[in-house]
Amino acid sequence: MDVAGLGKQFGDEPVLSDVSFSVRPDEIVALLGPSGCGKTTTLRCIAGVETPDEGTISIDGDVVESGDVSKPPEERHVGMVYQNYAIWPHKTVYENVVFPLKYTDNPFPESDYEHRVTELLELVEIAHLKDEPATNLSGGQQQRAALARALVHDPDLLLLDEPLSNLDKNLRTSMRDELQKLQHEVGVSVLYVTHDQEEAFYLADRVLIMNDGEIVERGDPSTLSRNPESPFTRQFLGGWN
Ligand code: ATP
Repeated sequence: MDVAGLGKQFGDEPVLSDVSFSVRPDEIVALLGPSGCGKTTTLRCIAGVETPDEGTISIDGDVVESGDVSKPPEERHVGMVYQNYAIWPHKTVYENVVFPLKYTDNPFPESDYEHRVTELLELVEIAHLKDEPATNLSGGQQQRAALARALVHDPDLLLLDEPLSNLDKNLRTSMRDELQKLQHEVGVSVLYVTHDQEEAFYLADRVLIMNDGEIVERGDPSTLSRNPESPFTRQFLGGWN
């Protein structure tokens, strides 16, 4: 996935300015920065639910955003998990997870949907809850259902927006490891948005530091944490490393 020169204003307020970065195949990249710096807006532009004012976005070599081109979300081959999971509480786990197969581009014939959903539910270890209404699930189980839903249509890119922030500390730590394992098993590129430094540095192959709508620094976790170059990064990481 490549983002180049992304710019966005809300009214007179610039929110993103010349944001450029790539996520290589099978890589986890964390977009880390303080609240309000533009992380979610970046993710929403990539997912196609927000339109940037300028810039280009390509996913797996396919230009999805550029000038006159703006492909709808369902043609972008992305999966997204939101902070609050966005699971429909009164539908069953199966109905929640099958949804992207019905409404987005994917390689699976309708006759395989049930098998595909079951496969994903087994992967996230909630196959036994398939016919439960989602409202009966715990926070951690809803998180797993949201992950299964985001992966079921075999996306090229998984967009995760603070996916663990609603979980308690212990669950967050164990889900972090499971997420990493799942990513290796499925083989998908991940863009992981967070304001949690520990999470970003633990999970990611590369970290992008964002402030005020700009990427101010980028690098692999160990170099960035040992040798932050920009004054903002030094101050932002100051209390942690
Ligand atoms: P957080 O970690 O708190 O979610 P963030 O880094 O993800 O923050 P964004 O949600 O991208 O930041 O918001 C960036 C800025 O854009 C904020 O000042 C926010 O108030 C503003 N903003 C976001 N969406 C809109 C919108 N639809 N209309 C107007 N302003 C918006």
